[in-house]
Amino acid sequence: MTTRTAFSDLRADFPLLAANPGLVYLDSAATSQKPRAVLDAVRDYYETANANPHRGAYKLSGTATDAYHGARREIARFLGAADADTLLFTRGTTEAVNLLATGWGQAHVHRGDRIVVTRMEHHANFVPWQQLARAVGAEFRICELTKDGLVDLDQLRALVTANTKVVAFGHVSNALGTINDVREIVAIAHGIGAVAFCDGAQGAPHLRVGFDDLGVDAYAFSGHKMLGPMGIGGVIVKRRVLETMHPYQFGGDMIEFVFDGDTTWNVPPHKFEAGTPNVEGAVGLAAAVRYLEALGMDAVRAHEMALTRYAMERLAVIEGLHLFGPASAEARSGVVSFTLGDIHPHDVSTMLDVDGVCVRAGHHCAQPLMRALHQSATVRASFYVYNTADDVDALVASLVKAKARFHAHA
Ligand code: PMP
Repeated sequence: MTTRTAFSDLRADFPLLAANPGLVYLDSAATSQKPRAVLDAVRDYYETANANPHRGAYKLSGTATDAYHGARREIARFLGAADADTLLFTRGTTEAVNLLATGWGQAHVHRGDRIVVTRMEHHANFVPWQQLARAVGAEFRICELTKDGLVDLDQLRALVTANTKVVAFGHVSNALGTINDVREIVAIAHGIGAVAFCDGAQGAPHLRVGFDDLGVDAYAFSGHKMLGPMGIGGVIVKRRVLETMHPYQFGGDMIEFVFDGDTTWNVPPHKFEAGTPNVEGAVGLAAAVRYLEALGMDAVRAHEMALTRYAMERLAVIEGLHLFGPASAEARSGVVSFTLGDIHPHDVSTMLDVDGVCVRAGHHCAQPLMRALHQSATVRASFYVYNTADDVDALVASLVKAKARFHAHA
């Protein structure tokens, strides 16, 4: 493994991992561990700059305001968006998609229109669109996948008809690891004048995003999956789309003037950020993106692809193991999702935990996908910057042991 040396000492940067040498953390698709730099940035913010931003005329409030918007600029730059004021902070991807489905959807989607999603969507990028369709009387259509777990682009071309207003799709599937062809999906949506909204919860942590070049109209992300704190994330929205969106929540900060009978709105991003913002989260996420930038996103991708390829090779020789998703490591992010013979995924996960191996078992918030795969659950191991080939070896050894133990008792 060529990247093993470069990334092998990162564990020391992560206090939780450093304090638990035996822990094999393979659940970064659920949430990532946090480097000391992020924890320090949050502490430093509270020790040196804490005040409610925007509201005070005093200097400290200005310091907090600068910290908040400085973080916005850094995160926007990391994601390749030149216009930082089009990055709206939210609690994460879930709130970002709800913001789009409400703020954009209620303004643009009407009875008889069509909304298209894909079969691999996380519930966060499925249910808000399904419910919008139900509320306004629009059609909700699901593009199926190929056998290899890729979006069936021919079917997508057929589904995206003249009445389609939005195509909502994930950059990377959390359940299969599939990396979608964003440019092609955007081209299909734009071909008939629909917008293309991308759930980047599993994209932003692992791939160079380049928002301004990607063509998507909106890109949502979660800070906690990319080394940042929980409770912060956001969505970047193209300026011309943003200008047509209604506010999502009402309250302080998002207003211009409030009269007895009506209210006018502040400019973006404020218009979409009602109430006291999560400044510590934004500051922590900015520290996380600095950490990722120092590693280099191309190196992060190369490291994860090498680990994934190695994991796929090693898992392939375990008898009875069935791997879901793309056949090549190039077509997937650092996710391997599988079943192990007739052992229930929850039992696999519990047995692995005995060896300190943390994997996820379940439907991965993708019940429509699981139903199509005829599975109630899979086991998912997911990799990030601090994982090494040793972690893959530990996973494989523990799986082999679990199989032997299960069959000894069966
Ligand atoms: N989309 C995808 C693809 C995800 O993996 C997740 C998190 N599992 C989400 C959306 C939701 O993200 P959050 O819970 O951070 O809002």
